[in-house]
Amino acid sequence: MDVENERIVMPGDKLGIIEQYIPGEGTYDDNGDIKSSVLGNVNINPKKRIISVDSKLGKPAVLKKGDIVYGQITDIKSQRANFNIECIKDNPRPLALPYIGAIHISQTKKNYLEKLNDAFRIGDIVQAKVIKITGENVDLSTTDKECGVLKAMCTRCRDYMHTTKKKDEVQCNTCNRKEKRKLSSNYVNE
Ligand SMILES: [Zn+2]
Repeated sequence: MDVENERIVMPGDKLGIIEQYIPGEGTYDDNGDIKSSVLGNVNINPKKRIISVDSKLGKPAVLKKGDIVYGQITDIKSQRANFNIECIKDNPRPLALPYIGAIHISQTKKNYLEKLNDAFRIGDIVQAKVIKITGENVDLSTTDKECGVLKAMCTRCRDYMHTTKKKDEVQCNTCNRKEKRKLSSNYVNE
């Protein structure tokens, strides 16, 4: 079986056998069969006998220091808020690793913050900046004006909240409860 160069293949499509080619990027060896792991175009290097697939989505995105990310608060401890990183700003590609984000209390606001619960609550959608990466663990900061909560969820009724005239205060759309947050200047009112 021969796959021609440039052909579009799907994940799982057989491209050849291990005796024919060396499996390259975007492929895997399935008991001697070389198969595609991505949707993309076949790329055969006849000299080196390497077969690879160039993903249509491009290479997955690797986080770097200074990147702005969007995600959701999943847990709040006394010193840090855990953060599920969903995507990088202005980058549609999927993330290369299942990154685990965290915002330390000292990296939340420019001024002193006594309780993390006055900045974030579980379920809030947050914009944050990457300040340190150790393997899959990512330290984030929300001290910049544009960083912080983009959409807050009421702790009583779980509805979304809107900003009030007071700085870093939001109010529930349904039950009118008022809560504190570290708000982003890009907060989304609905
Ligand atoms: Zn409410």
